[in-house]
Amino acid sequence: MKIEHIEVIEMEMPFDKGISKNDQVGFLNWGKLDFCLIKVETSGGITGWGDAFSFQCRRPVAEVLKHMVIPRVIGKDALDIVNINSELQQALHLFGRYGITMFAISGLDIALWDIAAKAAGLPLYKFLGASSVKNVPAYASLFRYEDPECVRDRVTYAKKLGYQKIKLHEIGIEEIGAARKAAGDGTLLMVDVNCPWTPEEARMMALKMKQFDIHWLEEPINPPEDFDSLAKLAADTGISIAAGENACTAFEFKKMMSSDAISFAQPSVTKVGGITEFKKIATLAEIFGTQLMPHSPYFGPGFLATLHLAQSIPNSGWIERIFIEPEAGLYPKELYNPVKGSFRVLDDIGLGVEPDLDVIKTYRVT
Ligand SMILES: [Mg+2]
Repeated sequence: MKIEHIEVIEMEMPFDKGISKNDQVGFLNWGKLDFCLIKVETSGGITGWGDAFSFQCRRPVAEVLKHMVIPRVIGKDALDIVNINSELQQALHLFGRYGITMFAISGLDIALWDIAAKAAGLPLYKFLGASSVKNVPAYASLFRYEDPECVRDRVTYAKKLGYQKIKLHEIGIEEIGAARKAAGDGTLLMVDVNCPWTPEEARMMALKMKQFDIHWLEEPINPPEDFDSLAKLAADTGISIAAGENACTAFEFKKMMSSDAISFAQPSVTKVGGITEFKKIATLAEIFGTQLMPHSPYFGPGFLATLHLAQSIPNSGWIERIFIEPEAGLYPKELYNPVKGSFRVLDDIGLGVEPDLDVIKTYRVT
């Protein structure tokens, strides 16, 4: 079954943050989701869908796909996924082992796994080796509101929806304190700060946060690959560190895990090298005894791929649900909403559902 044609579909979709606040600066200035979808058509008549990470880098990722990835794979056997992935990584190693090149490879890889599972007549999770469905817990991943009142409001709403695990993206102590107060003692609270601090700044902030019983502190230090400083921070403060959304390939995760930097590893299937590379990282996590916590603030094929992967990994951690509402759903909206704290996985072949072509038509920009 040959790869005959690949289409790259770029979309921009407005989303609702759930708050009304006038000064929408910084994080709050972000108002549209980027999508870089990959549609792969084969000589066997099977079509697969993938997506490459493209938040605020959509056009460059699409260009890498069009000019560097697609010309290398047209005519290849679509089922030869691991070799295609390996050959692309080797051929393009000069152009970034982290970042846009790997995002593009990830998107293609997801589409090829969708095709392979469809060719086998199986849902992807079964194709990956799991026969029964388990409950995979969800956590609410709140936006950064930079306002204690908004934080209180969103934490209260997340609890009302049944979330028992809530992640903040705040960097201010006042906002984090407001979240703990609204959440109460029984709710797990995580804080993701997105690499703002030096090691010393991170140490001071981590010590201040301890009073709020933070389950993990995510990406406190810049640059994200300073694993030695992360390890020292964890040892000095006793706070658990999560990281991994800024890492690609199993080799980077091996370095992170062997440096004792993290308690929670957060591979992102649309970044690390797709399903092929994610599976290797899951094996590493098992060997190193590091808890997996997939990074998945997505609404496209990458989100579905994460749900299927979670079914096929014995200790898959929790699935992230970014707490925004896109204007339209590529897939039925109920897929993104956990029931009794868990996401369900679809039993149809491949990723389980095809994207809504009308939604693509409405929001595509190329
Ligand atoms: Mg994060």
